[in-house]
Amino acid sequence: MSEPPTLWHAVTPHAKTYPGATSDVATDVVVVGGGFAGLSVALELARSGTDVTLIEARRIASGASGRNAGFVVPNFSRADPATVIARLGAERGGKLLNLVGRGADTVFDHAAEFSLGPHADRSGWLQPAHSAQMAAALQQRAVDWQALGRPVTWIGPEETVARTGVQIYHGALADASGGVINPVAYARAMAETAVSNGAVIHEETAAADIVPDGAGWRVVTRKGVSLRARRVLLATNAETLGAAGQLARLVVPLRVYQIATAPLPAERIAVFSPRREAVSDTRANIFTYRLDADNRLISGGMAILPFGAEARMARRISQRLALELSLPDIPPVEHIWTGTAAVTRDFLPHLYSLGDGFHAVTACNGRGVAMTTMLGAALAPMLRGEVAPDQTAVPLAPARTIPFRAFARAAPSAFLVQGMLRDRAEIRQSNGSHSAARQHVEYER
Ligand SMILES: Cc1cc2nc3c(=O)[nH]c(=O)nc-3n(C[C@H](O)[C@H](O)[C@H](O)COP(=O)(O)OP(=O)(O)OC[C@H]3O[C@@H](n4cnc5c(N)ncnc54)[C@H](O)[C@@H]3O)c2cc1C
Repeated sequence: MSEPPTLWHAVTPHAKTYPGATSDVATDVVVVGGGFAGLSVALELARSGTDVTLIEARRIASGASGRNAGFVVPNFSRADPATVIARLGAERGGKLLNLVGRGADTVFDHAAEFSLGPHADRSGWLQPAHSAQMAAALQQRAVDWQALGRPVTWIGPEETVARTGVQIYHGALADASGGVINPVAYARAMAETAVSNGAVIHEETAAADIVPDGAGWRVVTRKGVSLRARRVLLATNAETLGAAGQLARLVVPLRVYQIATAPLPAERIAVFSPRREAVSDTRANIFTYRLDADNRLISGGMAILPFGAEARMARRISQRLALELSLPDIPPVEHIWTGTAAVTRDFLPHLYSLGDGFHAVTACNGRGVAMTTMLGAALAPMLRGEVAPDQTAVPLAPARTIPFRAFARAAPSAFLVQGMLRDRAEIRQSNGSHSAARQHVEYER
């Protein structure tokens, strides 16, 4: 279960500990999983005076919430507002768009409340288009988000190159409400605030099983302690330990590698990122980068083959940073880590009913920081019994196991290979014989 430590754990030394559950209790709600999803729900419930106990198998933010890159992005990785409305209808789709669109506002409101200081930076988020076709799609996406009242604009190719340092882009969607955080500092502060509002948190307490118990449920821990509650929420992402398997079977796990370089000189950063914006482009083999408070570059990627991937990915991601940002040297890598994200069938967040009063939730799909933060406000009324599960802003989906799940784990790698070929063709087509296009084709060989 132990994973390599992250940059965030290294630069965020102080961690409050929460003792494991040792005796049986009865409460209103049990939340399983101490990532952003579980914590945001526990915080919201505690604030409204509901008795809530959160159990975490390891330590707070041991899962994806402590292992991500900290991009705060208030939209969907694969869906335009129009797609969401087409799929869910005007009312349900509108509710979800309203929820997701406010994600970064809520994260940075929390960051201010938690006094995160340099661990949160609302520097904005850019999604540059790697092809003319994507530029057209993103221009429309920007218009759609504007119509929903969001501070989203379209910026042209020259300005995009000046603001990202990458030569191949055809313009970018800019969301002024986005930015970056240190996710470990954020999760730990959320846990402390939940506890100060009355929530009970137990670390090192894994749910082995969740079974019906009269009108409610009994969460049985691996050490045999019983936590009884009318309602239970499973917020364990793609993890498979004990009871978490009931959610894991509904999502596709996606292994993602992250690196942080040694700090770069401020003069160098000013050349490629004058506004210090977070960048995630539209390529299938997505190029992302952000800066931390100490001027480290943080970037990531997926491995085609898992064997020996850490060293290989550290090399590849740092080489890519140097190439894309025209850095004079390949920056030394100080931290490399990996984590598992969860992807749903339709790339939208979902609530699943596992019994009367027993639900699981996932809101990842690569945009988890902002989306999971919104789950507290979205799900607390349901967990207090005030709202029916199909009336929350998070779409209720049938709890259908992903078919051929063992093979589904390999699917992202297969899509990555296919996507890299498509990126190459699209960059070639959009840039003609532009030297930057040639350079990027070289890199991908
Ligand atoms: C490498 C990587 C980079 C990412 N980058 C970004 C990014 O930059 N921006 C963004 O928006 N999103 C990003 N994401 C996605 C984002 O991190 C996730 O969507 C989000 O953290 C999910 O939160 P969660 O609470 O659902 O899950 P998690 O944080 O994984 O929490 C689940 C918790 O459940 C616990 N658990 C498991 N089984 C049990 C059990 N049986 N009993 C009790 N507890 C259990 C685990 O220990 C874990 O702490 C990234 C993900 C990864 C992996």
